[in-house]
Amino acid sequence: MNIGIWLERAAQAWPRRAALFTGVDLVADYAGFDRAAREVAGGLTAQGVAAGDRVAIFMGNAPDYLLALYGIWYAGAAAVPINAKLHGAEAAWIIADAGARVVLADVVRRDALAEQGVVAQAVTQGAAVAEVATRAPGDLAWLFYTSGTTGRPKGVRITHRMLVAMSLSYLADVDEVTGDDATLYAAPMSHGAGLYAMVHVLRGARHVCPASGGFDEAEIFDLARHHGRVHMFAAPTMVKRLTAQARARGETGAGLRSVVYAGGPMYLADILEAVEVFGPIFLQIYGQGECPMAITALSRADVADRSHPRWRERLASVGRAQSVVEVRIADDTGAEVPPGEVGEILVRGDAVMPGYWQNAAASEKALRDGWLWTGDLGRMDDDGYVTLQDRSKDMIISGGSNIYPREVEEVLLTHSDVIEAAVVGMADAEWGEVVVAFVVCDGTLDEAALDAHCLRQIARFKRPKRYITVAELPKNNYGKVLKTELRARLTT
Ligand code: ATP
Repeated sequence: MNIGIWLERAAQAWPRRAALFTGVDLVADYAGFDRAAREVAGGLTAQGVAAGDRVAIFMGNAPDYLLALYGIWYAGAAAVPINAKLHGAEAAWIIADAGARVVLADVVRRDALAEQGVVAQAVTQGAAVAEVATRAPGDLAWLFYTSGTTGRPKGVRITHRMLVAMSLSYLADVDEVTGDDATLYAAPMSHGAGLYAMVHVLRGARHVCPASGGFDEAEIFDLARHHGRVHMFAAPTMVKRLTAQARARGETGAGLRSVVYAGGPMYLADILEAVEVFGPIFLQIYGQGECPMAITALSRADVADRSHPRWRERLASVGRAQSVVEVRIADDTGAEVPPGEVGEILVRGDAVMPGYWQNAAASEKALRDGWLWTGDLGRMDDDGYVTLQDRSKDMIISGGSNIYPREVEEVLLTHSDVIEAAVVGMADAEWGEVVVAFVVCDGTLDEAALDAHCLRQIARFKRPKRYITVAELPKNNYGKVLKTELRARLTT
């Protein structure tokens, strides 16, 4: 099936229900949303876009984004959403790699692309298509480019089946959404926030794009209060910023129903503080482009159940396998390891990609024996809760012992002077690798105090042998720390 038909059905069921907003202003009801998507599809079809073609979207968050997405699906094509924060040259690389037939962009990105010699157009509308194109479940719906923290971005083939599975899994495993709810697009629609648009279309909920087009804490609080029952997707750094702002302004987050975070590690200290400020509205997803948003989840019930003896451990975990996939913690041969032991996280099921876009070598490496090898290390407890240790590429081996940077970072962050920390391995003649911590601190770093702090909580061999104070950590456009860059600094 074509995932787009959920919009057609929502428009049939609730034509007059408010659908799209810019800030507080209503842009379209569901009938209008459906009609505009048909017209976008008509415009694309008139330009020769046919089933199976790729159409890129390079735009900031705005209702037009959803019109583009559904217009592309209605026409039977696949969308290639590009992170709006990318440089024109990076976007041009993706457009070429995807072989996009048409590029839909807002005015700012059209200029950025023009500098690269790439022609893009606004989301224009033509004569409305009468029929939504038929698609097979295994057809390409969304070509998703990974953020490239471990190398060049790779195009992941996301099919209609995967989007259906991912959306239903959200409703089953993460949170219910009703027609009275709203979703706020404060995080890039090219990633997690946009992937959840379908869940909210299925339920006929409201879609709110901040007028600023981005992530502004004060605007988020105001819009949540205005619209009410607001769901929001956020990266962990955004959750941290929301908490800090709420504390500074005495905000309680009125109107926010859920904040779903994913995409990178959320440290226990940060999530506990967020729950203290806003209550148990934080739901976690663990996924990757190759199995978008659908490996494990920490549900509303998990977060709310404070009296559970393992509540804190659970908050530090990424939750349990989602309903549409199987998750296994495995050794190098793919055999399951006993509960509590660390291994690589493997996943299989309807939300897993069939492979990368035109990259057979990478696909063969990632998909083996019917499983997706995530490259993430973790352990599973007896109840099925998975705790991520780290990415296998980031693990440090010092004197023959495995050290997971994330564990050391968690400890550093509990020190009051430390604002941010990133731990990496540095080559060492004696130990193979030693632990180095890059730290952003409040004032000057007292190394001896930090060392003593670590020794109180973790084994001697895990504590950093060297501290490097930095003004800020290098991050990509999603706020993920670029450890490759930090490691490179140690060798130059
Ligand atoms: P590339 O594959 O190009 O290096 P990337 O890994 O950053 O880029 P994404 O698909 O954007 O690509 O990110 C997925 C990764 O993010 C996961 O494999 C995992 O390491 C991390 N991640 C996702 N969700 C969580 C989470 N809830 N907690 C901790 N880490 C997470």
